[in-house]
Amino acid sequence: MDALRLKTTRRNVLRGVAAATASLALPCPSFAQAGARVVVIGGGFGGAACARALRKINPKLQVTLVEANRTFTACPFSNEVIAGLREIDAQQFGYEKIASLGVTIVVQSATKVDPQARTVGLADGTSLPYDRLVLAPGIDMRFDALPGYDEAAAEKMPHAWKAGEQTLLLRRQLEAMEDGGTVVLAVPATPYRCPPAPYERASLIAHYLKAKKPRSKILVLDAKDTFSQQRLFEKAWKEFYGDMIERIPLSQGGRVVSVEAASNTLVTDFGNHDAQVANVIPPQRAGNIAKIAGAADNTGWCPIDAATFASKLVPNIHVIGDAVIGGNAPKSASSSASEGKACAAVVASLIAGTPPERPTIEGTCYNIVAPGYAFSQSGNYQPRDDIFVEVMGSGFTSPVNAQNDLRQREADQAKTWFKTITVETFG
Ligand code: FAD
Repeated sequence: MDALRLKTTRRNVLRGVAAATASLALPCPSFAQAGARVVVIGGGFGGAACARALRKINPKLQVTLVEANRTFTACPFSNEVIAGLREIDAQQFGYEKIASLGVTIVVQSATKVDPQARTVGLADGTSLPYDRLVLAPGIDMRFDALPGYDEAAAEKMPHAWKAGEQTLLLRRQLEAMEDGGTVVLAVPATPYRCPPAPYERASLIAHYLKAKKPRSKILVLDAKDTFSQQRLFEKAWKEFYGDMIERIPLSQGGRVVSVEAASNTLVTDFGNHDAQVANVIPPQRAGNIAKIAGAADNTGWCPIDAATFASKLVPNIHVIGDAVIGGNAPKSASSSASEGKACAAVVASLIAGTPPERPTIEGTCYNIVAPGYAFSQSGNYQPRDDIFVEVMGSGFTSPVNAQNDLRQREADQAKTWFKTITVETFG
C-alpha cells in the first residue's frame, strides 16, 4: 500500500498552478480528459466515496481529496459509543487505501474557493487549481440560531452531532451523572443531519441508564410534532424503557428557544427545563466552505441540479451529501456515499464530453433501540424537476408489529451495513 501523498508544500502547489495555466490554454479535448483535475473538499462518506469512484471510473483523472482531519470519525453507530456499547476507535478510518488508489490526499482545511480562477485556497496559504470541484463538507452547527448556544456552550451542553470529542464528552457526562438525574435532549426542526438519529440516541441513552442509573429520566424537547418511524420508536420505548423517556412535541412546548449554559437550563415558550446532562442538537447548515464558495443560499444549504449535482449558484462546482437541500433524499451516510458515486460518474462524463446518466440514489437507515433490536427504512431517489424524489415502490419501512426475531435480524443487518459502507468508502 502506498503512503499518503501529502501535497501541501507551497512549491508543489505552485508547480500545480503553472501546469494548470498551461493546460487551460490547450483546447485539445483528449488532453482535458486525460489531465483534468477534480478537487473534492471533505473526506466523509460523500467526498471519500466520490474521490475513490472518480479514480475507478477514469484512472487518468487527477483527483485531490482535501480533508481537514487525518482520521475520519463516523457518526453512524456513534450513539452506541455514547451509551458505552462501543469504543470510538471502531468509528475511525484513515485515508491510506484511498491514497493507494491514486487519489492525492491533502490534510488541510479548505478556506477559500475562487470560482472564477477555479482555485481552492488552503489553510497554509497555498492553493489548488481545479477543472471541477466537488463540495462534500457535511454540516456545521448554526451557532447564531439558538440564543445562548455557541461553541463555548457546546463544551458544556454537547451536541455530539459531529462524531469525535463531542461524542466522548457526552458519554463522560452520562457516566458522571448521579442516579436520578434528568438527561434533556433538544431536537431541532428539519432539515438536519440524520432525522431519526436523535430518537435512536434517546433509546440508547435509556439503555445505559436502565442498567446503571435506573431512577434517571430522559426528556426529549422536540421542535417537531412528528418524526420518522415514530410508531416503531414509541412502541419500543414502552416495551424496553417504560416511562423513562418522555417526549414533548412542538405543539406542547417542545421547541427550545434558548439555553443557559451556566445553569444547564433549556428554555421553551412553555417553561424552563433544568438538566443534569443537556444534549443540545442545534439547527444546522451546510459546512462553512459551501457558504464561502457561494454555493449555499439563504437557507444555509446548497441548491443543486439533482441530475448533475451541479450547484445552482456557482459554475463548475458540484455539491453532495448532507450539505445539499432539495427533495426527499435523506441526509444520511448511505445516501451521501451513493451521491458521491453518482456524482463521480456525472463529473467523469462531463469531463469526457459525454452526456451523464440520470443518477439513482440509494438510502438505507437503521435505528437501534437496544442491543439486538433495530428497525429500518430505505428508498431509492431520482431527479425530477431539480429535486430528488423517491422512486415509486422503492420505499421500505419495517412493520410496526413484528416478532423480535425480525428486530434481531435488522440489528445484525445494521452491523453488516456499517462494515460494508466503511470498507467500500475507506477500507
Ligand atoms: P461528513 O461525513 O460529515 O463528511 C464531511 C467531511 O468534510 C468531514 O470529514 C469534515 O472534516 C470535512 N470538511 C468540512 N469542511 C472542510 C473544509 N473546509 N476543508 C476540509 N475538509 C472539510 N447515516 C446513516 O446512513 N446511517 C446511520 O445510522 C446514521 N447514524 C447517525 C447517527 C448520528 C448520531 C448522526 C449525527 C448522524 C448519523 N448518520 C447516519 C448521518 C451521517 O453521519 C451523515 O449523513 C453523513 O456523515 C454525511 O456525509 P457527508 O459526506 O455529507 O458529511
